[in-house]
Amino acid sequence: MTRTASELAHLFRALKAPAAARALPALADRAREEGWSYERFAEALLGTEVSARDSHGGEGRIKAARFPARKTLEEFDFTFQRSVKKTVVEHLGQLDFLHARSNIIALGPPGTGKTHLAIAISIRACLAGQRVQFATATQWVARLSEAKRQGTLEAELKRLSFIPLIVVDEIGYIPFDPEAANLMFSLVSNRYERASMIVTSNKPFSKWGEIFGDDMAATAMIDRLIHHSEILSLKGDSYRLRGKDLDTRIGAKPVEIT
Ligand code: ADP
Ligand code: MG
Repeated sequence: MTRTASELAHLFRALKAPAAARALPALADRAREEGWSYERFAEALLGTEVSARDSHGGEGRIKAARFPARKTLEEFDFTFQRSVKKTVVEHLGQLDFLHARSNIIALGPPGTGKTHLAIAISIRACLAGQRVQFATATQWVARLSEAKRQGTLEAELKRLSFIPLIVVDEIGYIPFDPEAANLMFSLVSNRYERASMIVTSNKPFSKWGEIFGDDMAATAMIDRLIHHSEILSLKGDSYRLRGKDLDTRIGAKPVEIT
């Protein structure tokens, strides 16, 4: 190794910039061949390190978000799910809603892709440098109720308000007791116009009174959630059952769905 090369290796280590170190030989050759300016070269070298760090951080944020599965917008089949427009969802994936601190509400029967879309949009946020936290409504309530028990609810809500996006999945699968309904309302109120949420539910808003055990509480909650929001109403059959009708067409016994 020449003296310059070993000095450079030392400097890259000191800067903790391994991606730039790896890219240097090829970039330097290319710069000489193509007669780059010093500035152009500096930009290419530093840019390599920055994007390596960004994508690395993205993976870290995806892990920290605790998604139950990994889903992407590219995998979502808009020809199967025709009740949402691809352009609308793609636009949400550009994350303007996040910068505007508004919400996304995905409503629809089980299996129509609510959680898939919630995760896919959230992953875009992670890759764009935003922190995300995913949990089901039940898990959020458990977490907040534990904080309340320990007298740290305010602190917990404040901490959460610094996370730009939280996903509350599956509102309505289990009805809330009054304490749970209160905690959910605190969470929504605390984030109002401050940070975004993606909320999914298998129940239309008209049924939220039953979930929260109180029409007034449900209305207050819905008001806050939808004031700045995009609502995706998913319709149709469960994606899990796609193609099952083919069986009936070829004369097989129809699949019983209970
Ligand atoms: P929901 O949350 O509405 O109950 P999910 O998002 O969990 O439904 O979808 C159920 C399964 O079907 C998941 O594995 C999801 O990735 C897949 N899925 C649902 N809709 C689509 C779609 N339109 N394109 C591709 N996969 C889909
Ligand atoms: Mg779901």
